[in-house]
Order: sequence, then structure tokens, then C-alpha cells
Amino acid sequence: MLHSLAHQVERISKPDLLRPCVGRYAAVLFDLDNTLFDYDSYWGHRLRHALTEVCAAYPTLDVDALIAHAISKHIYAPRLPALLQQMGIDDLELCRRAQERYRHNDYSHLRLYDGAEAMLQRLRPTHRLGLITNGPVFTQRPKIEQFRLARMMDVLVISEEVGIAKPHPRIFQLTLRHLGVAPARALYVGDSLRYDLMGAMAAGVDFVWMNPHCLPLPADMPQPRAAIQHLEEILPIIER
Ligand SMILES: [Mg+2]
Repeated sequence: MLHSLAHQVERISKPDLLRPCVGRYAAVLFDLDNTLFDYDSYWGHRLRHALTEVCAAYPTLDVDALIAHAISKHIYAPRLPALLQQMGIDDLELCRRAQERYRHNDYSHLRLYDGAEAMLQRLRPTHRLGLITNGPVFTQRPKIEQFRLARMMDVLVISEEVGIAKPHPRIFQLTLRHLGVAPARALYVGDSLRYDLMGAMAAGVDFVWMNPHCLPLPADMPQPRAAIQHLEEILPIIER
């Protein structure tokens, strides 16, 4: 676990560590999916593509409901055939072909949110930047590489690689320890209240909620430091 995180930290160059820090925060950490890009929309697009043959063979299938269910339950390719069979698709060969299409991680149409790269470039000279993402390496690593996030971040942490996942506070604490930044001087930006907000707060890290659809904050959730619809809105919060 530590070896894996240490491997990540090897990416940090000495000049990076010598960068001056200004303002209240020395480090700004980000979630990946649905924080730096709209992954749910992309996931829906990919599922719809995988289900093209199924929809043609079963025209009464409610594909919108199926896609919404698959996204909400985090159903990846291994569980797709079982889901299709639950929905009444009894052609097992058709299910297998849909699974094969879905298994293909083609992130080529995925795009960072507008302003994401400019925001990272703006913060890079003055702040340690990091990524903490939950998920398996086989899905998270290709996205990190596609967006060349290693050149903009000081540390990249994938939960499967380190053996700890959000909302456990230790994944934040380990990341910050390797950056040499105290939790009180770090800000985490994420879209998930359950994983990102609860994890950051348990670790003593300020949290900004990436909330592009202006969802209401449930009454039982602690208040984030701020909620934003666009990533560039964190700049005045950080530079205040
Ligand atoms: Mg997320």
C-alpha cells in the first residue's frame, strides 16, 4: 500500500516541492469522475452504444431506465449480462456481445470540463495539486493518462492502488503527508457527498462541492465550505 503511494510520489520533482505556497491553502486536491469531467453523461453514451443490438432485438426495452439504473448502481461490464437478464433479455449471446462492447474502455470522447485545464494551470505555480479517485486501476488510469494529469498534479492516488478508498480519512491523510501539507491547509474538490465530503471532513480537510446541477444539500449533510457549478469558481475561494 505505502509502496504504491510512494511510487506515485516519485513523480514529484524537487522544483515542484520548492514552489511557494500562497494564501490559506497550500494544497488543492481533486476527485476525478464527475468533478474534472462529466463522467455520467459519457458513461450513458457508452452504455447506449453497447446496447445498440439489444435495443434493436428488444424494441420495448426501456433503455433510458436501464442506463440510469446501471449508472446509479455502478454496474461495469462484468455485471451487465446479469442486469440484462433481469430485464428480460434472454438471448445470452446478445448479452455477451453487449458486454464485450461495454468492456471496451474507449475514453476518446471524454472531455475535461470547460475551464478545468486553465484552472489547474493557474493554481500550479503556487499550490500543491493532487488527485484522489476511488475505483479500479483499469478504469481510472487510462483517464488520468488521456488528460495527461500527471504533468499537472504532484500526486495521483487511485484507491485500488493504495488499498484504501474514500470516505476513509486515511486516504486523504496519506496523500497530504506525502505532500508535506497539514489537513488544515488543504482543500478537496469533489462531487460526491457520501465519499468526497464525508471523507474530506473526517480528515479535517475543507471541502468544495462540485455541484453542476444545483442539487439541494440534504439536511443531514454537513455544510461544505462552498458549492460550485463550474471549476473556475474555486479560484476566488482559494485566492481569497
Ligand atoms: Mg466523483
